[in-house]
Amino acid sequence: MTEYVLPQDFAGYQAGDVLREITLAEARELECNRCGACCNGLSPDVRKDPETGFPLFTWGSKYPEDRYRARYGRELLIPLVRTDGGIGPGDDFERDADDKPYTAFVCSFLELPTDTEPAACGLYAGANPHDLSTLRPRNCGEFPVFGLDVDAVVLDGRGYIPHTGALPRCTWYGIRVVGPWREGPKRDPRGYWRERWERQQRGEEVDRLRDVSELGPEIHALLARRATIDGSEPRPDA
Ligand code: SF4
Ligand code: SF4
Repeated sequence: MTEYVLPQDFAGYQAGDVLREITLAEARELECNRCGACCNGLSPDVRKDPETGFPLFTWGSKYPEDRYRARYGRELLIPLVRTDGGIGPGDDFERDADDKPYTAFVCSFLELPTDTEPAACGLYAGANPHDLSTLRPRNCGEFPVFGLDVDAVVLDGRGYIPHTGALPRCTWYGIRVVGPWREGPKRDPRGYWRERWERQQRGEEVDRLRDVSELGPEIHALLARRATIDGSEPRPDA
């Protein structure tokens, strides 16, 4: 196992934190433990900004203006705002000086964990709750290592740190993704991705992936990611 010492604060981690390095294939084989922290900024399991009390984990920018009301009949994202009693639910996201929303939230579909049951998502609709590809908004299904942005970083030969630094109970806490995603005789029979990654690390030239039709089965295997169905449009400022 190799380790990576963070040179600066990032996504809830602090400079000097030590991350475990794993491949994307390994990261995608891990299973959500259903702690529910990534759905609930008020959870004690989410690290808070010591100055403001706001959770250090937010929804990000890929949410629709109506916060999914049209799709689900009610707003999915309940903004967290400053209240007289501290941080609590409010009507709209706090905005910074550039009018960018600070998307700390609690999800209205979250079923909180109990002493006997882990957290559940009201949108799983009877499907396998361990399957992250189940019908949910894009941010949920792609979090924290299942989005194509992660594939893009790996394709580029770089490391990817999932945004889990504020979620110490998360399965994917404390990792950095280094290395390709498809391994083994069935997924990468010719060792294409492994070899490409190793060449990148040595600073050698690798195939440019501009014309995917030339790559044949490898690129199709790559793009056969877990589907996340999302009827929303990203915000214009996303
Ligand atoms: S839709 Fe489900 S997975 Fe997504 S934030 Fe809400 S409870 Fe969590
Ligand atoms: S914080 Fe991680 S382990 Fe917990 S529910 Fe979210 S994805 Fe799953």
